[in-house]
Amino acid sequence: MTSPGKMLKGKAAACSPGIVIGRVQKVNGGEFPIPEIRIGAERISAEIARFEQALTDAVSDFDHERRHLMDLESQEPLHILDAQRLMLLDAELSRKVIHCIRDEGINAEWAVHRQIQDIANVFDGINDAYLRARKSDIQHIGQRILSHLSGAGHEALQASGDEPLVVAGTDFTPIGVLRLWRQGVAAFIAEKGGPSAHSIIIARGIGITALMGAEDALQLINDGDRIVIDGEQGVWLSNPTPDVENEYRVLARGVENVERDLQAFAGQASRSRDGHALRLMANLELEEELPQALELGTEGVGLYRTEFLLSTSDQMPDEEAQYQHYAKVMRTMRGLPVTFRLMDIGGEKPLLFEQFTGHRVIAANPALGLRGVRLLLHAGSTLLHDQLRALLRASNKGDLQILVPMVSQVEEMQEVRRLLVEAAAELGIEKIPPLGTMIEVPAAVIIADALAEISDFFSVGTNDLIQYTLAADRADEEVTYLYSAAHPALEPMLRMSVQAAHKAGIPIAMCGELAADLKWTERLMNMGFDSLSMSLHHILPTRKHLASLNYHPES
Ligand code: PEP
Ligand code: MG
Repeated sequence: MTSPGKMLKGKAAACSPGIVIGRVQKVNGGEFPIPEIRIGAERISAEIARFEQALTDAVSDFDHERRHLMDLESQEPLHILDAQRLMLLDAELSRKVIHCIRDEGINAEWAVHRQIQDIANVFDGINDAYLRARKSDIQHIGQRILSHLSGAGHEALQASGDEPLVVAGTDFTPIGVLRLWRQGVAAFIAEKGGPSAHSIIIARGIGITALMGAEDALQLINDGDRIVIDGEQGVWLSNPTPDVENEYRVLARGVENVERDLQAFAGQASRSRDGHALRLMANLELEEELPQALELGTEGVGLYRTEFLLSTSDQMPDEEAQYQHYAKVMRTMRGLPVTFRLMDIGGEKPLLFEQFTGHRVIAANPALGLRGVRLLLHAGSTLLHDQLRALLRASNKGDLQILVPMVSQVEEMQEVRRLLVEAAAELGIEKIPPLGTMIEVPAAVIIADALAEISDFFSVGTNDLIQYTLAADRADEEVTYLYSAAHPALEPMLRMSVQAAHKAGIPIAMCGELAADLKWTERLMNMGFDSLSMSLHHILPTRKHLASLNYHPES
């Protein structure tokens, strides 16, 4: 830890609200610098001993984590951990690493790295997608050993007393964000990330204060610094003077008061001042968010991002595991509508993609690659079949709807519907749940009339629609200035989508972040959106704002 330094400030491209005053811990997000060093004969036995110690420490990690998994209902995480532990103890791996250190005179880090790479390359050549995906297991165990060798702190997060812990890193994946949250981290700050990066959306959803796209933050902030994370204004401040810190304490109390006042709107109907009903629904990723969704009186779940099921598993959950999960969500929501979006893997989530599909990302631009429905329909993929069966089985528990991500062709919807009907026949289910198209690619807007013919509802995903319309990466802080709903190209696209839906007599929702932008609420209502779906913490401010508006339908 460094001694208190000069007060420094910085801005971020994206934020998740709240004000946190705490202590920083820097993490490296699992990437360990791997030095390659030639060593002399006199250091060889010490280097071998270092490797053996790291191996022992890595095995202890597994034993430690194992204890936390014993009480889980599902035994799967435990089995995965045990399998990785066995790989770690594999005598052949140790023998090769030691051989490398002794015969080639190289340091333990590089020897481990080389051996892990060699094994990982063998996995690449395997035809079976499941076995090929096991490559990530060997990479994980390599990281375990390397983290001990490099003394990289092993990412152990150290909260000190009651002081809130703020974690700083280059970037955090959506799953990394969930892990921070589960570890009780109060806020995080990342150098990378734009306003609609999935990671910041997740942060807003679970209510963890965050800044992303905070350029150079890691150079300016020292480990152990006192820090203010202002997720309301998108700024950070390290080593605040006592006066500045006090000002922020007052501001933080103000934020808490506003939140307390908003509680008056929990459980109320979502209506304009003159009584027009606009459903406010929740965007959810985790079952842990369900109780809060109910407390707020959300009128259903407009977007359940099912790919986040993968955040608690190292393997693709099978049909039964998925069914149990969906059925639980349906039961908890007590008859309110729940829209499950089919797994949207790919794009910004390349690691998930490789780990769970066994398909190597070779696309130079994964956002335009095999993502969403494209991956689901990819020849030989059983993902879709398993998920459709699980959803169909859960559909008798309430009002379940299925939403298809990343649609750009009518044929994609036709094929998903065909498979849905087929799966229903296999299961003997007669009532097919409503199947909706996500409108998030400009082509889908242009062919909205045709899509409306074969869809039971539309849901507009503005996070991607803006990205693809403006050719500005939603997660890239360098093009944040271009990524804007205010661009005149967007509004006509929204209107076209609403008109196509209503012409075909189907409802239309918006589930992108724009749905929660108070500057747009009135316009979206008047345009004819039937519901707006948003992260939980936006529901009450939107309901309050809606109650101050009057409805003036455009047509
Ligand atoms: C969207 O694209 O607007 C959307 C809601 O989906 P996601 O953010 O998960 O891509
Ligand atoms: Mg999307």
